[in-house]
Amino acid sequence: MTIRTFIGLGSNLGDSQQILNEAVAKLETLGSVKVSKLYQSPPMGPQDQPNFLNAVVQLDTTLAPLALLDQLQHFEQEAGRVRLRRWGERTLDLDLLIYGQEQIHNERLTVPHIGLLERDFVIIPLLDLDAHLQLNGHSLKDLELVQQANLTVVANQSWATA
Ligand code: ATP
Ligand code: MG
Ligand code: MG
Repeated sequence: MTIRTFIGLGSNLGDSQQILNEAVAKLETLGSVKVSKLYQSPPMGPQDQPNFLNAVVQLDTTLAPLALLDQLQHFEQEAGRVRLRRWGERTLDLDLLIYGQEQIHNERLTVPHIGLLERDFVIIPLLDLDAHLQLNGHSLKDLELVQQANLTVVANQSWATA
């Protein structure tokens, strides 16, 4: 059975656009993929780090949640991710935002992703992919954050095929 999932992508170290491009190509090996626009956002947490490039990928996959997380963490490692500090700089962050309708709470995985509703760099690209997306019965497009987003569009939805 194929499940519709959404993966949040972020990078602020190295050639971030190239790294995100390669990440999309890797996600394509896991199922069928659609990408949001590409955005630039100010860092969360420590402010003495570069701005991020962010996007969201819609991935239709047959992988179970933990198997998908294993793949995401493997791709992060391949991109040379090193943990320096919480919410610090990284070559690649791949977060499982949404996995079908499932609510998951275990030591490795919280889904929907814990920060989803507070992060404009997640909500806005999700709305690119599905303008009517709902979470727990609420339309994401009605969130106040959508009106106050502090994001810059870097490229339209064809960025990942370039
Ligand atoms: P945040 O999760 O607040 O965006 P982060 O992405 O910087 O922070 P990471 O260092 O990438 O955090 O991941 C820390 C841990 O989060 C991972 O070891 C993973 O097991 C756990 N985790 C829990 N839920 C998720 C999820 N939905 N997607 C990805 N990782 C998750
Ligand atoms: Mg993250
Ligand atoms: Mg992460």
